[in-house]
Amino acid sequence: MKRVYNFSAGPSCLPLEVLQKAADEMVSYGESGMSVMEMSHRSSYFIDILHEAKSLYKELMNVPDNYEILFLQGGASTQFSMIPLNLFSKTNKADFIITGSWAKKAYQESARYGEAKVIASSEDKTFSYIPKVASKDFTPDADFFHICVNNTIYGTRFKPDSLPETGNVPLVGDMSSNILSEVYDVSKFGLIYAGAQKNMGPAGVTAVIIRKDLLDYAKDFTPTMLKYKTHADNDSSYNTPPCYGIYICKLVYEWVKANGGVAEMEAINKEKAQKLYDFIDNSAFYKGTVVPEDRSLMNVPFITGSDELDALFVKESKKAGMENLKGHRSVGGMRASIYNAMPMAGIDTLIDFMQKFEKENA
Ligand SMILES: *Cc1c(COP(=O)(O)O)cnc(C)c1O
Repeated sequence: MKRVYNFSAGPSCLPLEVLQKAADEMVSYGESGMSVMEMSHRSSYFIDILHEAKSLYKELMNVPDNYEILFLQGGASTQFSMIPLNLFSKTNKADFIITGSWAKKAYQESARYGEAKVIASSEDKTFSYIPKVASKDFTPDADFFHICVNNTIYGTRFKPDSLPETGNVPLVGDMSSNILSEVYDVSKFGLIYAGAQKNMGPAGVTAVIIRKDLLDYAKDFTPTMLKYKTHADNDSSYNTPPCYGIYICKLVYEWVKANGGVAEMEAINKEKAQKLYDFIDNSAFYKGTVVPEDRSLMNVPFITGSDELDALFVKESKKAGMENLKGHRSVGGMRASIYNAMPMAGIDTLIDFMQKFEKENA
């Protein structure tokens, strides 16, 4: 069996143990005599899988009891609409920090339904930093305040201790690309959402953690399927949930737990990222594109300074067993996405290749 080191930003690599467990259970799950793909979402087998997934996610994220966990469809992008359609409640105002393409899309969608205000943006420098903000500039009566916690394309992040202090205004965080990678205090948020396909499972599941008091404000015209309450009242099974995706998420949660939980993921991720950033910083050939203090632990963009060499790097790295190192088209260069499932050996292989490539091309 040939496996590559897959540095894709998403969908991205999953732990081998998870894939193997899924393979073992593919044709017949437990005593059921059928695949999870084939079973009724009302069957006790699937209801157990759903509840186990929920309770593991709650445990791993240390979610307080006054929050609801929902497994939805439509990707993180559907959340850009669901958030304003459900959280605009009293003033129809919301604040945004624009730190990249996803943050901007969330802002643009909210602007269709209410008064969306840009508090700060880092677009002036190709989103290479997290803007400094002061609470006095925030809208005090906003219905919510949205940030993209980890910026997948540009490789920046709000660290757990540098979230904006929004007081009573619910903080909404897009954690699609750094969920389960580092310990964040859920109680600082009103809502956290994450498309599964970066760090948590396959595409098709979007996990939402929402404070229960925020469930009740959906606008009258909000489609039933886009109301959080619909899904909260029906245990994420108002209609057919993304059953197989939820099952794979459950296996990923079990894997994270068996490997020490989110705190241990954080320790390993910091070690992995530090090794790669240190190598880039100590090289005269490669350059990181992000200010050091705002660097992501998950997405590491870097360049050589030459478009031709960047293209050659991507081509040659494929031959050396590494895939998807091409940077996003809006940044160019390279991007190594090093999610939880990327082992240290993958980082070492990448660094060895970078050294060799530098020697041959500097
Ligand atoms: C990938 C990504 C999205 C979009 O996710 P979809 O599931 O494709 O809609 C949104 N936000 C962030 C931070 C992402 O990384």
